[in-house]
Parts: sequence; structure tokens; C-alpha cells
Amino acid sequence: MRGFIVEPNGSAGVNRQTSIETDDHFAVMFEQMPVGVALYDAQTFCLLAANPLFFQFLDPPWRGNPQAIGHSPMSWLPEAEEQGVMEIFRVVAETGVPYRSGIYMFPAFERGLTYWSWTLSPVRDQDGEVGRLLQTLIEITEQVEAQQRREAINVPLQTANRSVETERQRLEVVEAVASSVRISLDPKRISMAASKAILDTFKTRHVFIHTADPAQQALRLLHIYPALENRSMTDLLKYVPYTSPFLMARAHMQRDPIVVADISEALTQGIISGESPLANYTAMNSYVCVPLWFGEQFEGTLTATFIEAIAIDGPEVQTLLACSTHIAAALANARLHADVENERARLRSILDQLPEGILITEAANGRVNYANTAAAAILGLPVKTLINTSLHQNAQAIVSHKGTLQVVLPWNFAVIRALSGETISSQETSMIRPDGKNVTILSSSAPVRSQWGTITGAVIVFQDITAQKSLEQQKNEFLSFASHELRTPVTAIQGFAEILQLQIESGKQPGPQSLRALAIINEQSQTLTRLVDEMLDLTRIDNMQLMLHRSRCDLVDILRSAIETQASTTKKHQLRLVLDGLAGADKVEAFVDKNRCTQIVGNLLSNAIKYSPEGGAIEIGLYYFSPARTEVVIWVKDHGIGIPESETTNIFKRFHRVQDIDPAISGLGIGLYLVKELAALHGGRIWVESVEGRGSTFSVQLPLNLNH
Ligand code: ADP
Repeated sequence: MRGFIVEPNGSAGVNRQTSIETDDHFAVMFEQMPVGVALYDAQTFCLLAANPLFFQFLDPPWRGNPQAIGHSPMSWLPEAEEQGVMEIFRVVAETGVPYRSGIYMFPAFERGLTYWSWTLSPVRDQDGEVGRLLQTLIEITEQVEAQQRREAINVPLQTANRSVETERQRLEVVEAVASSVRISLDPKRISMAASKAILDTFKTRHVFIHTADPAQQALRLLHIYPALENRSMTDLLKYVPYTSPFLMARAHMQRDPIVVADISEALTQGIISGESPLANYTAMNSYVCVPLWFGEQFEGTLTATFIEAIAIDGPEVQTLLACSTHIAAALANARLHADVENERARLRSILDQLPEGILITEAANGRVNYANTAAAAILGLPVKTLINTSLHQNAQAIVSHKGTLQVVLPWNFAVIRALSGETISSQETSMIRPDGKNVTILSSSAPVRSQWGTITGAVIVFQDITAQKSLEQQKNEFLSFASHELRTPVTAIQGFAEILQLQIESGKQPGPQSLRALAIINEQSQTLTRLVDEMLDLTRIDNMQLMLHRSRCDLVDILRSAIETQASTTKKHQLRLVLDGLAGADKVEAFVDKNRCTQIVGNLLSNAIKYSPEGGAIEIGLYYFSPARTEVVIWVKDHGIGIPESETTNIFKRFHRVQDIDPAISGLGIGLYLVKELAALHGGRIWVESVEGRGSTFSVQLPLNLNH
């Protein structure tokens, strides 16, 4: 018998070597071992020796039978080749690498099912060749059963763990959605945040959020996450009328979610029709659409699709339901906010269009928190400057510009009084704006109260009454001018009438003096009549009662008679008619009010006489305005005092007279205003070209109106 060396199974590096003299000796050594041990020939795989425990593994005919010695495992285990056992023997014998099996179940023992693990180790002879194979069979029943007991205990624990995990995940999604939708008041951003939160923690394919458009009876897509590859599907989803075949179109009629747990099954069973958009969209297996209700208000839908089929009452549906309340609330909040903002914008635009200036100050800090555009225009400060500044500060700003304190202080008092609950109306305030313009403002102020009656601010409403004020002033001036203007001819008439009376009473014959008195009485009566007529015309224009009586007349004729009339009143000026481009006998016919045209020309001529030095030349003329000869320009030119450039438009305003004019030149400031209005009634216009100290040319453009 040759000796050989056993390599301990798998224990590389352990160099414990055992010398065994014979295989019989080996059998004796392992007889009492609690491990089944068998020794095989490494070439033939025939069993050389084994201990009793090993024999117990063999099938009954071989069990406990030492005749197994000399046979290969295929004898007592015919399926050894199929099971790969023999391959293991061959590999270990050839490579010298030991083998360790997994758990091996063995049912043959009387004590029932037992578990074993087996190893096959090469046993080298002294030349280092693998001559034997050593098989061990180790019972691991106890360990396996202990493991099984542990697992048995673990099963409900794992189930519980799984449901806790699902619940945790569900809460995580809901919490993520709840916190993400709080970030914005913009429905699009809310929907982006919510769908991202859902998709990040949840295994959905896509998440869509639609908002309800009750006016159009449709759903409008807010967001799809992630974007669909199918563009035409995206387009279809953008606007989903309640009548469309999309399942979500039904959501507005129900509170429960619409769940298609298994789309392919639902298609086969005809629960959803082949025409449904879902039928064409194969990249998903389940579909859940949760209606978003906020109280009684349908806000839209939350839709999720899943690659895998889900359960109708599964955690996915529950989670989406829980998320839906947060999303619905956020969308409702955004909608209400938008409504409030729209209403506010509407009110603002109304307030901004009001001609009255409006300032609202906050009670807490006395600062302006609202100013409309009219306020800015009237105060001559941009809205931006007005907002957030206190009225007092504005006063400072203007004070530093002009160095006067008359500006906003009265308002400061008004605000203080309004904040203490008082309402102040029609307060007149005079102020100098930053541009230096003096304006008169009529303001009213009142407290602004909250719904509980507490005063939260004050509102000041004001208008610029500078124009009315100056008109009032002009009217007052006019009255004093008018009384003076009227008194002058009346005094003259009275004086000369008395002289005549005395002459008649004294029985004197009327002489040249009497004739002169009569002429003056006549002249002054005409002046008086003209003044009264002008005042009456003014009233008629104010009341839109001035009517034209048009007829076909010759404008050249009107100019000639105007010159004749004025020539009789002035011997001191040279009046000349200039008809450029017209022959002496030419007529210029127009369909106009002859008396009013005479009045226009008469007024311009009398002004030219009034504002020119004695002996000055005055020309009056007419020319066609265009080659079509549909319009003419009548002009009056003098070489008188002229008009400052800054006054060339003002002189056409009622009661306006050039400032610093010689007080000896009488006038009421009505004549040019009447000329302008009369020209306008004829469809024409008036303008002046003038050089101060050198003279003026007044031009009236009139349409001939012959094709009336
Ligand atoms: P009135 O002559 O009665 O003052 P008008 O309305 O006719 O009123 O004229 C308005 C003002 O225009 C006059 O007060 C005068 O200052 C100025 N004005 C009118 N015509 C002339 C003129 N031809 N030359 C210079 N200034 C004139």
C-alpha cells in the first residue's frame, strides 16, 4: 500500500498533512466521525473506503453495504451524470481544485428531512499527483432549520416592513408634492413642481396636469412630465374638450379617480374602445386620472401613467389621491390669486383712466402706496417717485426745488385728519410743481377702512383746477373791462345828449357843434351795439346756438365793403385791397354766411387799425389756397405793435389780451376768439404771423363750399 496525503477541503494555506498507510486504515480512522467520509480512486472514481455515516446515504440496496466499495457513484446514483455530480468529480480530479456544494436536501432518514452539504477534495500522493478523491458529507440540518425558523419569523416582518415602506414612500410623495406646490402662485410652475415630485419618488411613466377651463368646457394642459415622445399626442392633450374621447374628459363629472389598471386587458374586454387615445399609446400599462376638486370647484385633473399594471386599490392610486388634494388647493389658490390680481388690475386701470388724481397713503407709515397716472401728471412727479414716499417727503422734494413751503403741507394735514376718521371735501390748494408751474388743486380726502372698520389709510382725490381758476380770473377781469368798455360810450352818449338838450332848451339853432355831437352819439351807439353783439355771440357760441345762414356770395365784395366801413371810421390809416392773381372785376364766390364773414374781416381790420400807429398802411387781400380753387385765404396785414411769439396761440383764447399791452388801447379779448370760432363753423381756421414791433398778418383759410 502506498501512502498518500489528504488536502483538507478548501482550507488553502492550512498545511496540516496526514499520512495514512492504507485505505483500510483510513476507514478505521473515520468510522466514528460525525461526518460522512468516502475515499475514491481519482481515475476510476470507484469507492475505495467510506465510513458508516456515508453508507447511510445510499439507496436501500447499497445502504450500509460495504459492497459499494469498488463501485463508482453512478452505481448507487444512476442520475449522477445528469445531475453533474460526475462532472464535479472529473473537474476536481483534473484541476486539483476542491469543491463545496450548496445545501443538499436528503429525505431518506427516518427522522425525516435532513440537510447536508458535501465537499470533494483532491488527495495527492507523494509525487504530488491527485490519486484519490476525498468526499465529506456534513449534516447542516440544524443550521438550515434554524435559518428556516428565522425566515418564517421574518416573513410577516418583511410584509409589515414592505407596507411600512410603501406607506413611507407614499407619504414622501405626498409631502414632496405638498411642499413643492407651495412654492408658486403660477399654475404652470405648480404643475411642474408637483409632477416632478411625483415622478422623482414614484415609478410613473408620465404625469400630466390639466387645468379646467369652465368657460370653454375643456381641460387645458399645464404640464407633462417627462415630455411625450409622441408630438401629435402632446398636441391632442393640450386642449381636451369635455366631449373628447380622452378618459380625463369625464373627470369633471365625478369625484372618484378613473383607473385603468391594465390597459391591454381593458382593451380586450372592451372596457375602453379601440378609438380611445390610450389604445394607441403602447408605452404604458396603467392609467390613473384623479379629478382635482377644491370644495365644489373642479380645478382640473392629475393623470399618471405606469409602465407596469397597477392595482385599482393599490398604493399608486391612494398616493395620487392624497397628492390631488394638495394640487387642487394650490391650483385653486393660484386661480383665486389670479382673479384677485385681475380684479386689482381692472380697478387699477379704471383708476388710472380717471381724470382725477388719486393718492392712497398707508396708516402704518403715512407713505403713498398707490398713485394713479393722473396724480403723477397733476403733481408733475413720476408715479415711481410718488409711491413709497410720504407726502411730507414730496413737500421736501419740491421745497428744495423752489424753496417754498406752500406745497403739500395742506395735504399732510388732510391725511392726518383723514387718518383720524375725518372726511374733508373740496379743499383748494395752490402749489408749485417741480417744473416750476403754479397749479391750483381741488382735493378731498377720506379715511380708508378695513372690513372691520379700522382705519388702514387715507385716500386723496384731487383735480387740477388751474384752467378753471384762470378762466374765472379772466371772467372777473372781463367784467371789470366790460363795465369800463360799456361805460365809456355810454358816458360819451350821455354827455353829448345833454349838450344837445341844453342847446334845444336855450332855443339856439343847431350848428356844426350840434352835428358833431350827433355824430359822436351815433358812433358811440355803434360801438355799444358792437360790444353787446359780441357778448351775445359769445353766449351763443358757449351754448352752441350760433347758427350760420349760408348763401352764395362774393368774398371780394365782402372785403371791399369792410374796407369802406372801416375807412369811414379811420381817416388816419391807409387801407388797401390786394388781390394777387385776380383781375379787378373778378369775383370769388363762396357758400358762406355773409354777415359772419363780414364780421370776421371787420374784426381783423379793426384790430389792425387799433394796434397800428396812426398813418400805418393796412392791407387786406385774398388768394386761392390750392390750384383746385376750393379754398381761399383772406389775410389782413398791419405794421403795428406786433405780437410776442409766446402769445400767438393764446390771443385766440377767450378774454385773452397780450400782457403789458398799452392800457389806453381798449378791448375785451373777445374779437379774435369769435373770429376763430366763426372760421371753424365755416370749416376753416385762423393763424397769425407776427414780429413784435413790426406788425402782424392774420390769415383765415375758408373752404368755398360751392358743391354743398
Ligand atoms: P381785444 O382787441 O378786444 O383785446 P381781440 O380778441 O380782438 O381782443 O384780441 C386779443 C388780443 O390780441 C388783443 O388784446 C391784442 O393783445 C392782440 N391783438 C389782436 N390783434 C392784434 C394786432 N393786429 N396787432 C397786435 N396785437 C393784436
